[in-house]
Amino acid sequence: MSDSTTLPPEAFTPARSRAVELERNVGIVRSRIHTACRAVGRDPSDVTLVVVTKTWPAADVRTLAALGVTDVGENQDQQASAKAAETADLPLRWHFLGQLQRNKAASVARYADLVHSVDRLSLVDALARGAERAERRLRCLVQVNLDSAPGRGGAAPSELPRLADAVAARAPHLELAGVMTVAPLDRSPALAFESLAVLHERLRDTHPGAVIRSAGMSGDLEAAIASGATHVRVGSAILGTRAPRHPAA
Ligand SMILES: *Cc1c(COP(=O)(O)O)cnc(C)c1O
Repeated sequence: MSDSTTLPPEAFTPARSRAVELERNVGIVRSRIHTACRAVGRDPSDVTLVVVTKTWPAADVRTLAALGVTDVGENQDQQASAKAAETADLPLRWHFLGQLQRNKAASVARYADLVHSVDRLSLVDALARGAERAERRLRCLVQVNLDSAPGRGGAAPSELPRLADAVAARAPHLELAGVMTVAPLDRSPALAFESLAVLHERLRDTHPGAVIRSAGMSGDLEAAIASGATHVRVGSAILGTRAPRHPAA
């Protein structure tokens, strides 16, 4: 913003109205989280809002941080690493969501705080090596696929114990932090989130520290909170659905 004084005042209007839009949307989502918590007797401070900034520019990340957002999510290493570098002065935790290729694991391990999408053994190894090289401790969630059809990422529920054990075995570079799911297209989100709750409770018998349950997005965060989600991942309800004018990074 240091060269901003050379620009006419109207040059600021789009940025200012974007900030107003984000502030309003963050407020709406926070109040949805609050209402959903109150409905089931949960404390809103037990639910972390991860704002999914994929495809949106680093300027939006900066605005969100100014609004008190502490956790941001991305699903592409190239965009995420660029935005994390551009906003390195901000106190943000970066969440990696979505399908992750093994050859990107070392890069993700450099900036991510929590990887939500661990779904195969080869990825566990790659993330552990990346975290070790970066001298960081990377928290991991095992992503469970509750679809009747595979293909959108996530391990079958039957694979969860084996993957969880593999992550835990790579301590201290990896830390098994919990589980994640994306609501299936072919079932009610509430039923899927209840299935995740059952799997998560069972996992915690052997891994009591794996307390995170990441579930719920813009359209289904209330159902996720009702079923015990600790992290909701919200993109379009805050950032909008139209394509950004400036592709990120
Ligand atoms: C994009 C994305 C979200 C956010 O989805 P919205 O419907 O835009 O809130 C959440 N989780 C994952 C894994 C995503 O890829």
